[in-house]
Amino acid sequence: MNIYNSLTKRVEEFKENVPGKVAMYTCGPTVYHFAHIGNLRTYIMEDVLEKLLRYSGYDVKRVMNITDVGHLSSDADTGEDKMLAGAKREHKTVMEIAKYYTEVFFSDCAKLNIKTPDVVEPATNCIPEFIKMISSLLEKGYAYKAGENIYFDTSKLSEYYVFGNQNEDDLKVGVREDVTEDTNKRNKNDFVLWFTKSKFEDQALKWDSPWGVGYPGWHIECSCISMKHLGEYMDIHCGGVDNMFPHHTNEIAQSESYLGHKWCNYWFHVHHLNDETGKMSKSKGEFLTVSLIEKKGYDPLAYRFFTLQSHYRKPLTFSYEALDQASATFKKLKNRIAQIPAEGEVDDAVVKQWHDKFEQTVGNDVNTAMGITLLYDAIKEDMNGATKRAVIDDFDKVLSLDLLKADTAQGAGNDVDDELAAFVEAKIEERKEAKKAKDFAKADAIRNELLEKGIVIEDTREGVKWHKA
Ligand code: AMP
Ligand code: ZN
Repeated sequence: MNIYNSLTKRVEEFKENVPGKVAMYTCGPTVYHFAHIGNLRTYIMEDVLEKLLRYSGYDVKRVMNITDVGHLSSDADTGEDKMLAGAKREHKTVMEIAKYYTEVFFSDCAKLNIKTPDVVEPATNCIPEFIKMISSLLEKGYAYKAGENIYFDTSKLSEYYVFGNQNEDDLKVGVREDVTEDTNKRNKNDFVLWFTKSKFEDQALKWDSPWGVGYPGWHIECSCISMKHLGEYMDIHCGGVDNMFPHHTNEIAQSESYLGHKWCNYWFHVHHLNDETGKMSKSKGEFLTVSLIEKKGYDPLAYRFFTLQSHYRKPLTFSYEALDQASATFKKLKNRIAQIPAEGEVDDAVVKQWHDKFEQTVGNDVNTAMGITLLYDAIKEDMNGATKRAVIDDFDKVLSLDLLKADTAQGAGNDVDDELAAFVEAKIEERKEAKKAKDFAKADAIRNELLEKGIVIEDTREGVKWHKA
């Protein structure tokens, strides 16, 4: 299996630390608000990576943190604490906010068929671990106290910008511009390990520490939570590209200073989903969530399909037109699969051949788009229905699109050719648009046009269904 490594900037052959086992870590959500579908693009791609590793025979242990403390509105330790801002916004406690948005996050993930990692650990569970690592960094001279906070001293490292030799401006993907300089820092990129005295006097969550009552900085949590569950050596660490700097850069700085050896071999970064005006943001315009797209009548798995059609190392632009197109293609695909009869006996040798081909194709730097192409090839291939369905089922272990589940496939089981099915789906989409635009005359005309072709459509709570008259 090959994977692009942000550390070396090359596609490399994946080699695990312990034969057959993969220790994988994912930066989890900051649970102060809903995840937008951009965040979820990252989690879908990480889910594919995990499933692909399992598909290739690895025994994967995947750990994810939940950020419920310490993440300020700027990743560079300035601005307001995101959790506190969320609590104020909703007149709730920080813990209520954390609980609610953690639950919604996993329910969104479930709708997108994203598997829950083996271990999920909230940052607030690990205060003793943070204190232990920070104490050690102070002892070793990698950290200092200033203005009552504890900072990591980046000048102690021979190479701080591990993701490239560019300057920090090139890496500042997710850093906001409205940062106010923290005068306690000895070096511009020093970062807070523990906040004791800060301007956030109303910080809700505080713990005792050797340096006074306070709370941890954001970066320390991922280092400690990963080591708690995966030990001192890790195979793959994942996140969105904005995590590369400063978050992952800082995670590496503190982890390797603490351990005294290399920590993680492969860094997997998913590029952003943007809207047509630019970066997707929780504070900008229409906030795109899974429930919003569901309310608009889309199957969340059509969004998963949309993301799988593109490569994770390219930015992806979201528009409803693009989602409509992906939705129509996805429905057509599912209809096509629904029409494959489960006849004959499964030929295991054939299934194995396709399995190997899929492993090789998608295993070439998580090429999901090529995986979908291979799925179409398998559908077209001459093999008995039972074998074909088994191949599709096998691919779906990674794609996770419920390809054999007929329930959401509109018109599933209709004995019509592909061309007519595609026509019907396109007309249904057109009618949906017409209804959205309140052009009911057009919507009725489309219904009649389909009736003339012998197709009946029905509006149901699960969406539009159709069948032959
Ligand atoms: P957060 O909840 O803000 O900590 O972000 C959760 C995950 O989503 C992180 O891995 C981010 O890198 C990632 N992320 C943030 N914005 C986007 C975006 N527009 N597209 C894809 N991933 C994103
Ligand atoms: Zn992290």
